[in-house]
Amino acid sequence: MIGPFEANGSAHTTKKVSVVFVLGGPGSGKGTQCANIVEHFGYTHLSAGDLLRAEIKSGSENGTMIQNMIKEGKIVPSEVTIKLLQRAIEENGNDKFLIDGFPRNEENRAAFEAVTGIEPEFVLFFDCSEEEMERRLLCRNQGREDDNIETIRKRFKVYMESSLPVIEYYNAKGKVKKIDAARPVGEVFEAVKAVFTPPSDKVKAASWSFKWND
Ligand code: UDP
Ligand code: MG
Repeated sequence: MIGPFEANGSAHTTKKVSVVFVLGGPGSGKGTQCANIVEHFGYTHLSAGDLLRAEIKSGSENGTMIQNMIKEGKIVPSEVTIKLLQRAIEENGNDKFLIDGFPRNEENRAAFEAVTGIEPEFVLFFDCSEEEMERRLLCRNQGREDDNIETIRKRFKVYMESSLPVIEYYNAKGKVKKIDAARPVGEVFEAVKAVFTPPSDKVKAASWSFKWND
């Protein structure tokens, strides 16, 4: 029987890496907060959406198909996205990665695990109301073809129907760190920092403030 490894043409990623999935609806602040995490905690940020957009620009044979799917708010076939992520991981010297905006459905999740053998350390989940996300998407002006009200509504629908179940899956495994993302960027990052700061450093920080107040 041909398994996913043979079909993929490459064995498991041999590199030992630590991965955090960064999930949340469109406009929940994943990209913004990932930039902060990179700066403070030395991760490499891989945005699945950015990798797909770069693939369109590169003039790849899949470009038109990817562009059409993004315009419709649909999820690009796992095989395409996983290849891009796998390549980015292998080409990078770092061993700590934030994977932002992926996996977006159950099939993405299972295929990534089967192909790469990677299980996330945890899932950082940015929880935000649809009203606030919509406001942010319509305000940000990044020239994205999918930041119009028609596509935004489709993206919300796909998020609710396909992506939330992935978060539920990891939640059932106790792997989800949920952040209230409907606040200003700085406040959200304070909550994010607490997730990435090792417990020993938190004790140190607490005893410092204790001495200070003493
Ligand atoms: N996309 C996809 N698979 C992924 C990530 C993104 O198919 O793993 C497509 C999908 O069409 C999505 C679009 O790329 O709506 C934009 O994704 P991105 O994560 O950049 O947008 P965000 O949700 O952060 O606004
Ligand atoms: Mg993004």
